[in-house]
Amino acid sequence: MSIKISSVSKAYNTQKALNNISFSAEKGQIIGFLGPNGAGKSTMMKILTGYIKPNEGSVLVDEIDVLQHPLDAQKLIGYLPEHNPLYSDMYVREYLQFQAAIYKVDKCNIETCIERVGLSTEAHKKINQLSKGYQQRVGLAAAILHNPKILILDEPTTGLDPNQLVEIRALIKDLGKDKTVLFSTHIMQEVEAVCDRVIIIKKGEILVDKTLEELKKGNLQNIEVTFDYNIEEQFLQKLPNVVSYKNNYDTTWYITFESTEDMRPVIFDLAQENGLKILGLNAINKNLETLFREVTS
Ligand code: ADP
Repeated sequence: MSIKISSVSKAYNTQKALNNISFSAEKGQIIGFLGPNGAGKSTMMKILTGYIKPNEGSVLVDEIDVLQHPLDAQKLIGYLPEHNPLYSDMYVREYLQFQAAIYKVDKCNIETCIERVGLSTEAHKKINQLSKGYQQRVGLAAAILHNPKILILDEPTTGLDPNQLVEIRALIKDLGKDKTVLFSTHIMQEVEAVCDRVIIIKKGEILVDKTLEELKKGNLQNIEVTFDYNIEEQFLQKLPNVVSYKNNYDTTWYITFESTEDMRPVIFDLAQENGLKILGLNAINKNLETLFREVTS
């Protein structure tokens, strides 16, 4: 087990930030830590990296107690904080050398890390001459200098343009091949693009902790049906397991069922029995964005 968080609570004076949070992460997982602003994501990450202490609970990283031995735990963790605090007047290599010196890491790792995060062509520049996407790469290079087993990334894609987003997501995915990665975001598509598992938190509590596959499956299924002419709603009411339906446009209906059985043949048979003709019948994957909104709203 890489990470084990048990019953962690944290309040800033009277402001409760985390309420009895527990979860664990296996080696090699990429976990999306998802929640609206103020949910407690950064607080959880700061506790996990030993930068702040919880009021209650325990945090183990590879069996090391982070609260008792933060320095030992930090040797296993790479951390990219929110707003990536870089010294922008420094050259890329100079900054990484400086980081390596502070954390007493072998400077030979610098070139390997520059290459790993795709910084080679920009590494001769000053940090303030780099685009935001490349600045994030510098932060990531600094986070992996000591070859940590665990990477904690706090909103690593905030403020990136669409191309940079795709590149940094791919980089996170690549880093996840040999590290446990926990990264926070408030963008659901990001989780879909990068993660194996998602933990959704809101107001300091975990609402969902599932693999992406489990989350996508669920029991709800959406089917879009197009008839050859307008139908009576009575027909839809005859269908079993219907949760809701909506007339999307013209003769097309969007129907949500709660069932593990594929409802398309059922619709087809019942339509035939009722003398209705179906022109189109599509199962629509419930978008994770919608799920996120449902869960957190
Ligand atoms: P997120 O990262 O999900 O946006 P945070 O962990 O930053 O959430 O914040 C959780 C809650 O704790 C929020 O209500 C926030 O205002 C509060 N909070 C965070 N840091 C502090 C702090 N240093 N002092 C007081 N309140 C804080």
